[in-house]
Amino acid sequence: MEEQHRGPVFTYCIMSPSLIDVLAFTLAAGPSALASAGLVNYGNSACKQLASSYSEQTILPNTTTYTIESSENWSLTCLASPLCVFEPKSAEDVAGALRVLENTNTKFAVRSGGHMPVPGAADIADGVLITLNKLDTTELVGSTARIGAGLKWWEVYDWLYTEGLATAGGRFGPVGVGGLLVGTGINYFGSQTGWSVNSVLNYEVVVAGGNIINANATSHPDLWLALKGGSGNFGIVTKYDMATFPLSNVWGGTLEYNMTELDAYVHAIAGYVDPQGGSADKLAAADCLVLMTPQTGEFELVNVLFYQDPIESPAAFSNFTKIPAGVSTTSIRTWTDFVVEQNSSMYSDSQQRRAFYTTTLKATPDSVYLVNSTFIDAAFSELTDIPGILTSVTYQTITRDWLFAAKASGGDSMNLDPENGAIIVILISTNWQDAIYDQRIADFSNGIISLINQKAEAVNLSYPFYNINDAGPGQDIFRSYSGSSFSKLKETRLKYDPNGTFQKLVPGGFKLGL
Ligand SMILES: Cc1cc2nc3c(=O)[nH]c(=O)nc-3n(C[C@H](O)[C@H](O)[C@H](O)COP(=O)(O)OP(=O)(O)OC[C@H]3O[C@@H](n4cnc5c(N)ncnc54)[C@H](O)[C@@H]3O)c2cc1C
Repeated sequence: MEEQHRGPVFTYCIMSPSLIDVLAFTLAAGPSALASAGLVNYGNSACKQLASSYSEQTILPNTTTYTIESSENWSLTCLASPLCVFEPKSAEDVAGALRVLENTNTKFAVRSGGHMPVPGAADIADGVLITLNKLDTTELVGSTARIGAGLKWWEVYDWLYTEGLATAGGRFGPVGVGGLLVGTGINYFGSQTGWSVNSVLNYEVVVAGGNIINANATSHPDLWLALKGGSGNFGIVTKYDMATFPLSNVWGGTLEYNMTELDAYVHAIAGYVDPQGGSADKLAAADCLVLMTPQTGEFELVNVLFYQDPIESPAAFSNFTKIPAGVSTTSIRTWTDFVVEQNSSMYSDSQQRRAFYTTTLKATPDSVYLVNSTFIDAAFSELTDIPGILTSVTYQTITRDWLFAAKASGGDSMNLDPENGAIIVILISTNWQDAIYDQRIADFSNGIISLINQKAEAVNLSYPFYNINDAGPGQDIFRSYSGSSFSKLKETRLKYDPNGTFQKLVPGGFKLGL
């Protein structure tokens, strides 16, 4: 990824009396009055054109809305001060803005839920930030959910719940629909439905030049396939049509164990991921975390369990439920109640610098032991001097059934072969507070990923796949896709974006390259 130098989010200065007058005028009169008085900072000519054609949708600097909009990203590493913010209300607005940006050769970034902790992916300092918040419509067409790209998952689930339905979207309510559905999508229903993107029946997408295209199994199927895993390389998706299914009550919740149960917990995870273990039950999903505070040597052992049928203590989780838990919230409950609980403080605190990095191993018990010991050793040897740091490893099982379901739905760009067996997608997630440690965390994370890969390779447990939704800056995502996917993605990119708008003008995020 291109390196960016982002300006400070807030600039403190001593204000001159004339500046105070201008600010007072801004508050009293608003930006359009300022524009006619010739006092507006338009950022650049693109912002000026956007403000003139779309005054309501264009948010200029020195306004309260601008300050709010430029600080909506989940990780503090992803805050920047854009030249202006554009907040489209329709696909036509997106198309018009895209033409302005292309004609003025202006850089831009696209943000839906702002939850990708990759600096520059959904923030920009020297360009225009397009935020999709206002693309928030919901419509049920038969059993298909048509959802705006600016929605958060909890909004989608709450709405569908009133219809007695659900869809295989993200597991955490505040995450955006937009980014997750151009990535992969680890969800609670995957052994039946595949990745979340495998439930996308149609993408309404604005491609380079401002054309609005519907990409699905019969219309632009190459683009439909490319968007399932290809991220923001092809255009700006404005609506997603998703398959739904009836759902009301489920069993699930969180178990938290005392740190003395670490060995028992790791054995239970190892047993669960085994293809003959609990993960073989298609209705089960487990999100198994080992969290560490390296400075104090404390562990938090957090296990989120989900079962699609409302039955008490499903057998699939018996290895987990037999370990005495300090905290257990598991019960039969509504699906939406279960989702709300997952927005725990670990993920909802927005005042943290954060990083995700990922790798994948074959789903065997030995993979769990290998990752766990490597992670704990590295964290203890490298991170103990960093104040306030919390780091974790998460084990996410992707079963063979999941990969078969992905194929059966029409496939995706990841193109993982179910015949190669089940996998564990590993997420290394770290929170810290001070920017002086950013490079240390990146080095630690890259180091641990390559160490895990080397060790896994040596014992034939490696699996060459990086899950884009859990990835860190610089991870080589698209080359990790299977078979000819990478070259197909590049061909499709060339077809729909021959001038490379989304490569050249969108510097952030995971790029296919020209
Ligand atoms: C707390 C937390 C929980 C998570 N849980 C899950 C989970 O359960 N399952 C899972 O698979 N992943 C999960 N993720 C990862 C998450 O799905 C990805 O980070 C995803 O990209 C976030 O989507 P967003 O819209 O919030 O992100 P953003 O940061 O807004 O966008 C991410 C990238 O996608 C691009 N993009 C966004 N919207 C569009 C669009 N409409 N058209 C084209 N490009 C677009 C952006 O430009 C950016 O490059 C989680 C992340 C966090 C932080």
